[in-house]
Amino acid sequence: MTAPTRIMAQVAMVMNLDKCIGCHTCSVTCKQAWTNRAGTEYVWFNNVETKPGQGYPRRYEDQERWRGGWELNRRGRLRLKSGGRLRKLAGIFASPVQPELADYYEPWTYDYRTLVDAPLGDDFPVARPKSLITGKDTKVTWSANWDDNLGGATQHGHLDPIVEKVRSEAEDKIRFELEKTFMFYLPRICEHCLNPSCMASCPSGAIYKRSEDGIVLVDQDRCRGWRQCITGCPYKKIYFNHKSGKAEKCTFCYPRVEVGLPTVCAETCVGRLRYIGVILYDADAVTAAAATPDDRQLHQAQLDLMLDPNDPQVIAAAQRAGIPDDWMVAARRSPVYALAKTYGVALPLHPEYRTMPMVWYVPPLSPVVDLLAEQGHDAEDTGTLFGAIDALRIPVEYLAELFTAGETSTVTAVLRKLAAMRSYMRGVTLGREPDASIPQSVG
Ligand code: SF4
Ligand code: SF4
Repeated sequence: MTAPTRIMAQVAMVMNLDKCIGCHTCSVTCKQAWTNRAGTEYVWFNNVETKPGQGYPRRYEDQERWRGGWELNRRGRLRLKSGGRLRKLAGIFASPVQPELADYYEPWTYDYRTLVDAPLGDDFPVARPKSLITGKDTKVTWSANWDDNLGGATQHGHLDPIVEKVRSEAEDKIRFELEKTFMFYLPRICEHCLNPSCMASCPSGAIYKRSEDGIVLVDQDRCRGWRQCITGCPYKKIYFNHKSGKAEKCTFCYPRVEVGLPTVCAETCVGRLRYIGVILYDADAVTAAAATPDDRQLHQAQLDLMLDPNDPQVIAAAQRAGIPDDWMVAARRSPVYALAKTYGVALPLHPEYRTMPMVWYVPPLSPVVDLLAEQGHDAEDTGTLFGAIDALRIPVEYLAELFTAGETSTVTAVLRKLAAMRSYMRGVTLGREPDASIPQSVG
């Protein structure tokens, strides 16, 4: 390899989605620590969304929505997008192309007395999720986790190739309608991107990426409340505090990281699925990597940015750059480097947004949907998986849309590795002779 010209260190995170149980402990502890204040009632620096689902704020993945400041009114005439109640609360001119308060949710104050004092009633809750599919009506009831636990059943177009395999008998159709329902949890924080578009879009220069650890922060003294960062962040992970008039975001718990503690979300995670680590990268290569023409190559471009902390050229460049020895030790022990690069089982979320996100995900390995036989396969049988990768309950195509810009072969390879590892470890746990062919078969 050629020697890196400007080496930098970055703290990053891997989340293993197979282990998330959707308990929202991470969200609540983060909120208690960071956004338990006036003006941030609707803000969740950490949120856990159900996939498939609209997310938080809803439909944030619809990137067309954030481009341009104009929309058609009911008469078909162009008008400036309003920015809704958040804009009115701020009472200032600001970027109009951003989620409205209803896209996050309208906070309320919970009366804890109702837990013990509520009178008996004969009615059931009646909130109507009437716009879950279209998402057009902003007046309907909504919340950060409104689509919690709703599986992506028949309305999900990704499943069509599998549907074609179903036999025509009515009973099989009914059975398959249930079998193909799927869901999983996707915890999200700010990605602390290598190429942060929030920073690029701030007219005040208030957003900066720390040189020592890559954490992206908002300078509260310099922020003028333009909110271009909210428009500019494709993950919608910057929020507006309508009391202070400033933008706020996840800080990767930098006061804790500085004294060697993990983030609050990682420390309190019930599933123990968050791995924090340091990676080294060539800062001068980021712009070229972000301009990779083919969306499907962006995942590889991100991996290419990660430098081997054991490479003598990298070590020499790190010393010249003044990266401390203890950070080099952390980089060599980094679970992020190991899972993303060495083992190749962690993938970035929406690399096609081109911000070079630094939160990586081990995709969920779901069971095989047994289409035509009553054999009861699961994804821990590598023989089954190798023959039935198209029949996993969570379609590979759907995972590829999230993590590889639609490129399925990378996701397939990751799932095969995970299945092989499970099969191997199951054998070890049960005292079986490990199958020596498994490591070779998955590469
Ligand atoms: Fe900025 Fe958004 Fe990237 Fe966070 S996820 S660094 S807010 S562009
Ligand atoms: Fe998932 Fe951990 Fe958050 Fe619970 S605390 S929702 S297991 S990431």
